Amino acid sequence: MGYIEPAPIKDKENPFESMMSRFNIAADALGLDEEVYNVLKSPAKQVTVSLPITMDDGSIKVFEGHRVVHSNILGPSKGGVRYDMDVTIDEVKALAAWMTWKCAVVDIPYGGAKGGIKCDPRSMSAGEIERLTRAFTAQMAEIFGPDRDIPAPDMGTGPREMAWLMDEYSKIQGMTVNAVVTGKPLVLGGSLGRTEATGRGVMVSALSAMGKVGLIPSQATCAIQGFGNVGSWAAKLLTERGVKVIAVSDLSGAYVNKNGLDIDECIEYRNMNNGTLEGYKNADHIPGDDILYLDVDVLVPAAKEDVITVQNVEKVKAKLIVEGANGPTSAKADAIINEKGIMVAPDILANAGGVTVSYFEWVQNRLGYKWTAERVNRRSDRIMKDAFDRVYKTSKEYNVPLRIAAYILAIDKVAKTYKYRGGF
Ligand code: GLU
Repeated sequence: MGYIEPAPIKDKENPFESMMSRFNIAADALGLDEEVYNVLKSPAKQVTVSLPITMDDGSIKVFEGHRVVHSNILGPSKGGVRYDMDVTIDEVKALAAWMTWKCAVVDIPYGGAKGGIKCDPRSMSAGEIERLTRAFTAQMAEIFGPDRDIPAPDMGTGPREMAWLMDEYSKIQGMTVNAVVTGKPLVLGGSLGRTEATGRGVMVSALSAMGKVGLIPSQATCAIQGFGNVGSWAAKLLTERGVKVIAVSDLSGAYVNKNGLDIDECIEYRNMNNGTLEGYKNADHIPGDDILYLDVDVLVPAAKEDVITVQNVEKVKAKLIVEGANGPTSAKADAIINEKGIMVAPDILANAGGVTVSYFEWVQNRLGYKWTAERVNRRSDRIMKDAFDRVYKTSKEYNVPLRIAAYILAIDKVAKTYKYRGGF
């Protein structure tokens, strides 16, 4: 995945608290009973390991890795593994809970988990990253498993890391177990359509939401923060649907062209330029954060959490925010966004296309069969569209913003399932 991280403007609100304050509002609206509330608010399992790795220069460096299983009520837990210097246990806990709600919103039979290693993959060699990935897998071998907990890519990881993870896990088991991880390279049992799945889901959510606020795609403008896997695919697919993407950004800044950017050219430039847009010429270059304040119809934050906060939300002019990243809006900013009348397609809905196709990958692995790209896309589009419609309907029913409606749907499903199962 891409290595895109804008300088965050923090609300001094940790991501877990941010998740919890939305959870609390939804739990209240639902009248969730206290016992179930207590079960759902605390992660089922948290594991922190230290990973001593021999670096290329012969020195040994110790990394810290986490895996948090928030819930396995709906099924085996599912969620990515993030390699980033900002990884903390609180962040991983929040991201794990978001995976629980996300899987419930799109109605796939998974609980939620997340992993993370505090490291800077950009400054490490492939060999160092491979040793780190294998050490992490070996330490987590008891947690992972196709029927237990299924990792996937996230920030700073991609198919290459998933291949090492699958291989290490398979060695430990003494047999090939490709369903233990998703987001694998195609030849190892990856699914067609998985690479673009999150961006594609963002596009489907954006189009659904545009329909609700009266925006016509061929007349709408869009800015996308983050030009990694999610942001660049969302940009490409929205452009194909007629939306004018006038700005994209990455760590090197934001690139604006009022007439619409040539997204294919931007992607090609980035691919030939070490993964960054730095030096891209057919656009005006502005500071990275300013992308959030452009006068556009649709804003897609697709970089990382906590970028729209009480400190800067007043400056946001978009009519619609579609959250490609997990947690890009701090909980404290929600109220101001609602006052301003901006519609938000929330993360646990808008970026669920990735885990949806991960689910298809796992299903194909278990069937020992391969689906066509056409089948994958058709089914994931339908799941994303149905999920949007359900969330929208719930928001009308409870008279709440889409974000709270998504939490209500998710918490209700997990709580009902918990009651039937009577605990694990
Ligand atoms: N890391 C992605 C997410 O946050 C994908 C997770 C998965 O496919 O399991 O949704």
